[in-house]
Amino acid sequence: MRRAALHFGVAARCIIKDTILANGEKRDYYEILGVHRNAQEIEIKKAFRKLAVQHHPDKNQGDKESEEKFKEATEAYEVLSDAQKRAQYDQFGRAGVSGAGGFSAGGFGAGTPFGDIFGDIFGDIFGSGGGGRGRAQGRRGDDLLYNLEVSFEEAAFGAEKKFDIPFAKRCGTCSGSGAKPGTEPKTCPTCRGTGQVRFQQGFFSVSKTCGQCNGEGKVVESPCPDCRGKGSTRDTKTLSVKVPGGVETGTRLKMTGEGGQGKGGPSGDLYIAISVREHALFQREDNNVICEIPISFIQAALGCEIEVPTLDGKVALKIPEGTQSGKVYRLKGKGIPSLQGYGRGDQMVVVRVETPSNLNKKQKELLEEFARISGEDIHPMKKGFLNKVMDFLS
Ligand SMILES: [Zn+2]
Ligand SMILES: [Zn+2]
Repeated sequence: MRRAALHFGVAARCIIKDTILANGEKRDYYEILGVHRNAQEIEIKKAFRKLAVQHHPDKNQGDKESEEKFKEATEAYEVLSDAQKRAQYDQFGRAGVSGAGGFSAGGFGAGTPFGDIFGDIFGDIFGSGGGGRGRAQGRRGDDLLYNLEVSFEEAAFGAEKKFDIPFAKRCGTCSGSGAKPGTEPKTCPTCRGTGQVRFQQGFFSVSKTCGQCNGEGKVVESPCPDCRGKGSTRDTKTLSVKVPGGVETGTRLKMTGEGGQGKGGPSGDLYIAISVREHALFQREDNNVICEIPISFIQAALGCEIEVPTLDGKVALKIPEGTQSGKVYRLKGKGIPSLQGYGRGDQMVVVRVETPSNLNKKQKELLEEFARISGEDIHPMKKGFLNKVMDFLS
């Protein structure tokens, strides 16, 4: 097999481009905002403002339903307010939108794409330029990466996959504070609660995360016995992800909010890195499936009809007489469906003519007779080749 020539090297492709939202079934973005599918930009903005004001976490503290609605609306607005993302969403649904979401009510770091939205939308509603708004800056949870192995067929047609991931569960005994029940974490003496320490480096005053409290501003003096002061315990959760058809090794799916738990900030995201198992018969090149089929030299010489395995089952393929080894036949539309949801690649059938071996006496005699009849040295291709050799040597 020409494995070396077939590249799976698409893994180096930009991660963000391949990152698609895979949070399972969710409501339609237009439905969430309550606007028509061809609503103008201004209507979308108006609808979002109304929902955002109604469900804003500052106004509805501890109201889970409002929090959920606020998140939903923000995610919908993030996509529908961006002409390009909206077009992709209209065409391909959530799978077409990259990097949507990633937001959870209750503090948003400066690095999120939401800085713009809130500068724009909330700047005038809440009379501040977005960002902190007087609340202590929480720390966003870590983004996690999970390696998910799928079969060649699952990668081609998509599949619902369940998998277990370990995660840090908030400790129930101390409610995540890490302090023994009845005690409270104390303000860190090193940074006096700021989480940052400043020091002089040449002319510059540099600040870095406080080493004693790891930037949290608080230290635990009597640790919680159940989590030993960490505020969380290890647990496992089962997640289910819809792997869309057309993924390949290196494709990443994003599950918003399924990453590490934040500390006073939103959870991180979980990225699922797809790795596709090798197939016994098929190899992949872009969206084409490559398959080598061995035939005998007699079949090649006289022509025949063979059965070729494809992702959709067996297909009959006519091999015309005089077929050479290495000849490629294309089965249109029998390849991998495109990840964007339209069209499929082709299957390339590479014919390999097998030279007979372990011939018995009778078979050898027949072949020698065959050679005599056809006059070996007048074979056009061979003659052409010999001429080329002569030219090369002369
Ligand atoms: Zn605890
Ligand atoms: Zn500190």
